[in-house]
Amino acid sequence: MVRSLSFRRCTSLSLRRLNILLYRGVSTTGNSTVPPEGSNGGITRSPPPIRVALTESAGRGVFATRRIGSGDLIHTAAPVVAHPSISLRHKVCYFCLKQLGIDRNSAYIQEEPTGNTNQRFHFCSEDCRESSKVFHEVECQADWSVYDEYCRSHQLKYPLLVKRLACMVISGALPANQLDILQPEKLTSEMIPAMEEEFGLLWSTLTESCISNEQMAFLTKQWYISILARIRINAFRVELVGMSYEDLLSSAAASVEAEAAVGNAVYMLPSFYNHDCDPNAHIVWTENANARMKALRDIPEGEELRICYIDASMDRDARQARLLEGFGFRCNCLRCVSGD
Ligand SMILES: [Zn+2]
Ligand SMILES: [Zn+2]
Repeated sequence: MVRSLSFRRCTSLSLRRLNILLYRGVSTTGNSTVPPEGSNGGITRSPPPIRVALTESAGRGVFATRRIGSGDLIHTAAPVVAHPSISLRHKVCYFCLKQLGIDRNSAYIQEEPTGNTNQRFHFCSEDCRESSKVFHEVECQADWSVYDEYCRSHQLKYPLLVKRLACMVISGALPANQLDILQPEKLTSEMIPAMEEEFGLLWSTLTESCISNEQMAFLTKQWYISILARIRINAFRVELVGMSYEDLLSSAAASVEAEAAVGNAVYMLPSFYNHDCDPNAHIVWTENANARMKALRDIPEGEELRICYIDASMDRDARQARLLEGFGFRCNCLRCVSGD
C-alpha cells in the first residue's frame, strides 16, 4: 500500500513508461470474468482499464480509462514476492500461499530436506514447486535456522520477504533494484539498529553458504534498509476470503490476531492505488496470493480508483492515527473531511 505523497520519481521516469512497467504481472479479461489462473496469476495479457497518472494532491494515482461496473474485476496481479506466515508454513503452499489439504481429495507435494536445510517444504502443485526455484534453489544452499528463528521470536514478517527477494536477485530472477519504483517509508534513526541487526544475520547466513562474492555484491546494508523501507509500507497481508481460520489455526501456537493472514506479499500496480476511507475498489484473495482488484461501486471513466489501507470500520480519529503512524499521511478523503 502506497501513499504517493511525492512527485519526485515521476520526473525521472515518464508516466507512460511507468504504466508499461507496472502492467507486468497484471492481467484482465475485462468485465467480471475471473481469469483462469496459472502459477503466474493469469493467462490473458490485455491491458486493464486503468492508467497511472498524477493526482492533484497525492502524487501518483490509478484512474479508470472507461466506465467500470460495480463488482467488476478490474485486474489481477501476481506478487513480485510473497512469503507464508511462519506458523502456517506447513499449512499453505510455500510459493503461492494456497491453503493445503482443505478437502480430502486435494494432494500436495511435500519436499524432503535438501542441501543445508533440515526443513520440509510444501507446495500445492508441481507448477508451484517449479516456480519456486527462482528463490528456493539459492535458499537451500544456506542454513536459515538462526535467521528464521530470529524472525519468529521477534514476530517479524517483512525480513522474510527481503530474504526471499535477496535469493531471487542472487538467482538472477530479479534485478536488485526491482522495488525502487515503490515509495519507501520515512525511517527514523531509532529504526535503523534493528534493521542493521537483521541485515547482519542475512549477510552472515548467505556468506556461510557457497554463494560467490560476485553474486552477493548487491547485498549491502543500504540495499537491505532500502528494500525493507519499501516493503514495510507496500506489503499487503494476504487474507483468503471464505476460508475457515479456525481450521487453519487449530494447531498453530501463534495468536489468531497475529496470524489471521496466510502470508504477506508485495505487488507492483496495486501499490500505486491511493487510500480512501470510503474506497471504490478493493483487493480480494480467493485461492492464493494472486490479488484480484474489484470495483465496489460503479466507477465512471476518469475517476481515481482508491482502496482502503486500514480497517474502514474504525472511527475518524482512530483512522487518522493509524494512517499517520503506519503510512505517514493525514487523510483528507470526503469521509474524513465530513467528520464521519
Ligand atoms: Zn501453490
Ligand atoms: Zn479518510
